[in-house]
Amino acid sequence: MPRKVIGECKLCNNVKLLCDSHYMPKRLYALLRAWQLKNPNPVTGVGGELKQMSDQYRGHVFCHDCEDLLNKNGEKWVLANIPKDYGSEFPLHAAINRLTPKAAGKNYVLCDVTGEQGFNVKQLVYFGISVFWRGGVHVWKTSTGQRAPSVDLYGEEESMRRFLLGDASLPDTVVLTLDVWPYKKVLQMLYPVLPNHLGGCPRYWFYVLGLLYALYLGNNIPTGARSRSAKDGFVAVDQNAADSVLEYTKHGLKSQRQGPKITEMHEAIAKVRSMTPPKQ
Ligand SMILES: [Zn+2]
Repeated sequence: MPRKVIGECKLCNNVKLLCDSHYMPKRLYALLRAWQLKNPNPVTGVGGELKQMSDQYRGHVFCHDCEDLLNKNGEKWVLANIPKDYGSEFPLHAAINRLTPKAAGKNYVLCDVTGEQGFNVKQLVYFGISVFWRGGVHVWKTSTGQRAPSVDLYGEEESMRRFLLGDASLPDTVVLTLDVWPYKKVLQMLYPVLPNHLGGCPRYWFYVLGLLYALYLGNNIPTGARSRSAKDGFVAVDQNAADSVLEYTKHGLKSQRQGPKITEMHEAIAKVRSMTPPKQ
């Protein structure tokens, strides 16, 4: 019998029966399981290292109604639009490649996806904000007690919570950006929220199967980030940003004892790197 926990739900703040909540959506772990490989458990960032694990960051954090809200406003739609397996169809990648960019640079395109087929800006934004916020309001742990990296939301917990409840829009001190993975085969990884601060501007990122989100906080958010705010319908394809995630992954893989899956992942990454860049 699962343990019954009653406590204050971190989203609605009501004292209720709490669910066994997940930091990153539970179903993502299932999508990441590579059944073709000897050890099918997903590779993810745990305690600053890359590990293959069946374990997940979880805790009794949200009530049933709030779990429902998180699911219907973001998770469900996002999970339906990311690849289901390595090399399988990636609906958002296909959708963005059909668009004429608003801006383009070297290895970079920016599209306004407002009202475009294949995109639901509201759901994409809600999902992104919900993951960053989850990272900031709870110490998530695996069943063996490994903690997710800590996240300081610089006092924006409440404004983000109100946004997630549908009570307020996001303030100007919170800017979310989204990159769609530029390569057809997406990196099969799950990175929880990690810091990558700019001088004077707190910045975090997380990555799930083809979606690279960044969150900028405070009064010194660069104009460049503001002008590609996902809230305003902008989504980018940024090869350099993707390559830095690949570098980060490669670096993480090198520092690990490499299991069979890790080695194959490494090879897969090398293959991905040699693929054709997005059309510009
Ligand atoms: Zn609740």
